[in-house]
Parts: sequence; C-alpha cells; structure tokens
Amino acid sequence: MSDTMVTTYSMWNQFRNCRKAAELRYLQQLIPIERDRNLHFGSLIHECLEIWHRERDLSSVLDLIDRRCAARAQDEDQKRDWHLATAMMRAYADRYAEEEFEVVALEHVFEGPIVNPATGASSRSFRLAGKVDGIVRIDGEYFILEHKTASQIDSDYLERLWTDFQITLYAHYVEQTRGIPITGILYNVLVKARLQQSKGETEEEFGARRADLLAKSKTGRTTARRREPESDEDFQRRLAEKYADPAMFHRERLYLSRDRFDVLRSELWELTQAFLDARRRGVFYQNTSFCFNYQRPCPYFALCRSNGNPNVIENFYQRVEPNEELRVLAAGAPEPAF
Ligand code: SF4
Repeated sequence: MSDTMVTTYSMWNQFRNCRKAAELRYLQQLIPIERDRNLHFGSLIHECLEIWHRERDLSSVLDLIDRRCAARAQDEDQKRDWHLATAMMRAYADRYAEEEFEVVALEHVFEGPIVNPATGASSRSFRLAGKVDGIVRIDGEYFILEHKTASQIDSDYLERLWTDFQITLYAHYVEQTRGIPITGILYNVLVKARLQQSKGETEEEFGARRADLLAKSKTGRTTARRREPESDEDFQRRLAEKYADPAMFHRERLYLSRDRFDVLRSELWELTQAFLDARRRGVFYQNTSFCFNYQRPCPYFALCRSNGNPNVIENFYQRVEPNEELRVLAAGAPEPAF
C-alpha cells in the first residue's frame, strides 16, 4: 500500500485554522452524526446545477429535488429546502435560458503532486486532489466555474471572493493536469431567499390576537379571522415573485494572478511540513479562537469540550473516510454524509 496521502485543500485549510480539527477529521475520520442544514442545501443546489448544465432539462432538476426531499411531508427542514430549491432552480433556468459560456467539463476531479517550490521536488507523503464545479469557455478563453449560494450579495461579499485561495490553487492544478490555460474564475452566485412559509395561527394565538383587537375596538366587535397556514402553491408564488428580482443571481469574473499562485504553493508546502511534524510528535494543538468562527460552534465543539470523551464520540460522531467531496455524484446517488 502506498504511504502517500491524497489530500484536499479543505484539509490544509482546516489544519491551518485548527490542527485539532484536522486531526479529528482526517486522521480519526470523525464527523458529526447530525449534519449542518446549510451543507445539505448547498450540496443539493450543486447537484441541481450540475444536472441543469449537463442536460438543460428543468424537469430532471425538479425531479432530483423531489427525490432528495422525499420526506418533506413529515420533515420541516426538507420541506423548507424543497420550496427554496424548487423556486431557485425554476428562476435560474428562466434567467439563464441562454448561456454566455460553453461547458467544457462538469464536476471535474484532478489530482497532482505537491511540489517544494525551493527544489521543484514532489512530496512523497502527500498529493493534492480536488474537484471543480466546471470548466467553461467564454470567447475562446477558459474559466473555472464555481457555484456559490449566499444569503446576500454586497460589495463585502464580492471583495471576499479574492480570499478564495482554494479555487485559485485548483485552477492551476486543472491547468497542469488538463493542459489548458485557465484565464480566471467565473463565480455563479445564487441568493437564498429568506422568506418563510407562514404556518398560520394556532387557536391560542388567534384567541390572544382577537382579545387584543376587542380590547382596542370602540364598538366591542371585530371581524378578525384565524389566519390559515400558507398553502404550498401560495408560498411558491411568493418565492417566484422574489426570484423575479435580477439581484437574486449574480455572475462575477475574477482573473487569475500568477504571483498569488506562487504564494499559495509555498504556503501549501509549509503546511505539509508542519503536518508531518505534528503527526510525528502526535501533537495537534487546539486553536480555541476558532471554535465559533462561523457564528456557530465548530462541529467538534462537543468533543473538545468533553476532552475527547469516548461516550461523546459514540453518541454524536461517526467515522467516514475523508475527501468525500471528490466523489462525483451521479443523479440518484445517495447523498454525502458531510
Ligand atoms: S472545537 Fe475549537 S479547538 Fe476543537 S477542533 Fe473545533 S476549533 Fe478546534
């Protein structure tokens, strides 16, 4: 068996942010049993976009959403995802009925050496693999297609795209492994509407509102009626109105900087050396300033807080091989666990 470990940028980024998190995910192969809902929705939309750009058949996309949210009658989270994904993809198909680009490849997986920039030698311990959402051609130039779902698009959001080093690095690997010059990145951003389906009023809520209205009424009467739950059709209509706003979709082109790539390559090499050292000494320290970095607890918070208690692992975590993102999802394939 080869001693070379196939790694992704996600692993190196996690190692840079918190070495303990990288150890838990990539050496102990632990992930939380309960999956982050945002990740579920993001991967659903990625699958939808892959199908749309491959087949350009909206019914196949809607069919996938139906299957991925098959338990929506009982599961509120699935119902929310179904509504949002359905409205988003209907509007996307309408908005981009004519495309500015030609698709060269979709869900393209690559693998290449990690090179020491000082000597040009390849690492014998690690290789880098990754997957890009697509490669497209615009006016004879090649771009990496990168899908994003966002809560809102503003100037801060667009500025932050510059810090997306992963895709810059991946672009250069694609260039090397496919032998085509990559000019830049085409970000395809879809905004998540914040609308909620109204649940209507409970008997108690209606009673309280009615009593309040009666107290304020000069006649001692009110015509208030109990608010009914919003039907699926009405909610889809409201979402469709929201998605008619052109600001719900955005395309942004960023051009690649060769200098930036040299910096990233050096940084990646440094990370490999630090990882080897940590693994040899068995020391992966915790960066506790990162525990709440994304306005929510790190997926390993429960484990770190319990000092690695085996009962916590047994009840809240499962072991799943890393680099799941490299798997190319076929329509109908089971959903990734993380
Ligand atoms: S909870 Fe904090 S210390 Fe523990 S792995 Fe996550 S970021 Fe690191």
